[in-house]
Amino acid sequence: MQASLALAGEACTPALTLKDDMKHISLLNTAHDQIKNILHPGDIAIDATVGNGHDTVFLAKQIAPSGHVYGFDIQQAAIDSTLEKIRQAHISDCLTLIHASHADMSEKIPAELHGKIKAIMFNLGYLPGSDKSVITQTDSTLTALTVAAGILATNGIITLLAYPGHPGGDQETDQVKNWCGQLDAQQFKINTIYSTEHKDTAPRLFVIRKWQDCTIYRNSA
Ligand code: SAM
Repeated sequence: MQASLALAGEACTPALTLKDDMKHISLLNTAHDQIKNILHPGDIAIDATVGNGHDTVFLAKQIAPSGHVYGFDIQQAAIDSTLEKIRQAHISDCLTLIHASHADMSEKIPAELHGKIKAIMFNLGYLPGSDKSVITQTDSTLTALTVAAGILATNGIITLLAYPGHPGGDQETDQVKNWCGQLDAQQFKINTIYSTEHKDTAPRLFVIRKWQDCTIYRNSA
């Protein structure tokens, strides 16, 4: 399924406070800012949780006109909502929406693109304004993250916004943290950005960057 893009409003925007000036910024905007430094026209990106399409639109704007975004969601309503947005613009060749779990990323993303994906976004939890019982699940999230880390390009980035404040979200966030902890530190650099509220239930952003290939790193040592 291919479509074009449209402007979109703000998605979930948990706040972050910088200690020095107490300036409030959004974790979602922080994720976008991190990706902007890396994702350019002609690149390939994945939105692992399309939802209302705000992140999909952001990614597609970064890679247009010659790049491509693949978007995943298990809810037809999310795909439809995003299609409605993208029909209004004119970058239809830049996007493929896939009605499937992000856990199927390996088989759904063309094999020739594995190792060439520059940015992958996860925004966990439920679709705002929709059925709150349909949430991302720890097992499929971890499966997708493992695939994502494998198909990511060297110097590519994964951002993951986690919401421990809803039922199931706490366990999922803990497991994502553990998953990050077992990554090869020579190949991946991880930053965790916490929201303003210094409590366990506050949203947080995981930023995972893939460094130089390990083999090259060791050979040059
Ligand atoms: N990025 C979205 C935006 O900009 O509006 C918000 C995403 S919303 C917080 C989370 C989405 O993840 C929901 O639409 C939900 O259907 C989707 N989701 C849940 N489990 C999934 C899975 N296994 N694979 C893909 N999407 C999934």
